[in-house]
Amino acid sequence: MTVPTPIPAAKPVIDETDIEAAVRVLRSGMVVQGPEVKAFEDEFAPVANAAHCVAVNSGTSALHLALLALGIGPGDEVIVPSFTFAATANAVRLVGADPVFVDIQRDTFNIDPAAVEAAIGPRTAAIMPVHLYGLPADLPRLTAIAEQHGLAIVEDAAQAHGAAIDGRQVGAWGQAGCFSFYPTKNMHSLEGGMVSTNDAEFARQVRLLRNQGMEQRYANEIVGTNTRLTDVAAAIGRTQLSRLHGWTEQRRSNAAALDAGLSGITGVTVPPVPDGLRHVYHQYTIRVVERDAVSAKLAALGIGNAVYYPTPVHRLRPFLVDGAADPRWQLPETERAAAEALSLPVHPALSDSDIQRIIDGVAVVEASAVASAS
Ligand SMILES: *Cc1c(COP(=O)(O)O)cnc(C)c1O
Repeated sequence: MTVPTPIPAAKPVIDETDIEAAVRVLRSGMVVQGPEVKAFEDEFAPVANAAHCVAVNSGTSALHLALLALGIGPGDEVIVPSFTFAATANAVRLVGADPVFVDIQRDTFNIDPAAVEAAIGPRTAAIMPVHLYGLPADLPRLTAIAEQHGLAIVEDAAQAHGAAIDGRQVGAWGQAGCFSFYPTKNMHSLEGGMVSTNDAEFARQVRLLRNQGMEQRYANEIVGTNTRLTDVAAAIGRTQLSRLHGWTEQRRSNAAALDAGLSGITGVTVPPVPDGLRHVYHQYTIRVVERDAVSAKLAALGIGNAVYYPTPVHRLRPFLVDGAADPRWQLPETERAAAEALSLPVHPALSDSDIQRIIDGVAVVEASAVASAS
């Protein structure tokens, strides 16, 4: 049997436009943080609906510096989902604070505001919602809860460039938004990240933290890091940003085609999108039972797919207590999602025939699963 050309699960764009942008800056000889970074920040701000943006060298650095700039540290708790990439909780630990893991909503895979409210205690300093797979978390409810309890919100928007609620983009609903420009994200700068905010003084603190605590050279004001972005990376980020909207529309139309083809298949739940939310489909994630078998069978058909995330963060080694998950975290929806979630290709490079192959592949695999179960 011949296996057709595999459809990759993700396909980062590095084309001539990116290469020319990088070469232009390399030839200039001015490669470290400079005018390209400043322009990238100014151009990204409208995407995050934010007054200020500060570019850094990764999404993880964005999260880390945002928490540092808020003064969060030892003795503080930060409420996070466990169904996310480890970077979210790592940032909390890196500042010496304690992550408090809460459960997600079944439909959206996103942090459950009721669970957030129940987890608030005297040490709670902030809430870090993740807009998982590109679908906004319930920011209207979360910001109301944060306001009522005097907490900061730091959005992990690493997967959600341009996602919106009732037309208002994610990124500056609370104190800060944190974006990633890793190659597989909706746009990239090779590696890179961005902190978005409406608070000028907070933005200044992040700028200081990014550059050894200096605004004026050798007039260090605070202890800081070197988490700067290069101008080469920023130039790539800028050309990627100019194409983001088109790519997002392509992701959304790919997702609509997958929805139409997959929603009738027994055993498959397509990703629901609540009214008013603009999903930017960093991932197109279905739920299936016998997920690992389905994943392997699709891969054998040349249909790339991936599991984000097979292990909830509270079960990863750095977050265990005496070698086991902390019994404080009872997260049934998180466990269920970790067992059922399966991400299918949705990237802008898919052709119509790729999409049809994905739909047909899932139908065949599910039909055989139903047949063997009966
Ligand atoms: C990618 C990602 C990050 C980290 O971004 P990097 O640029 O890889 O450091 C953080 N949180 C989530 C949810 C992510 O998907």
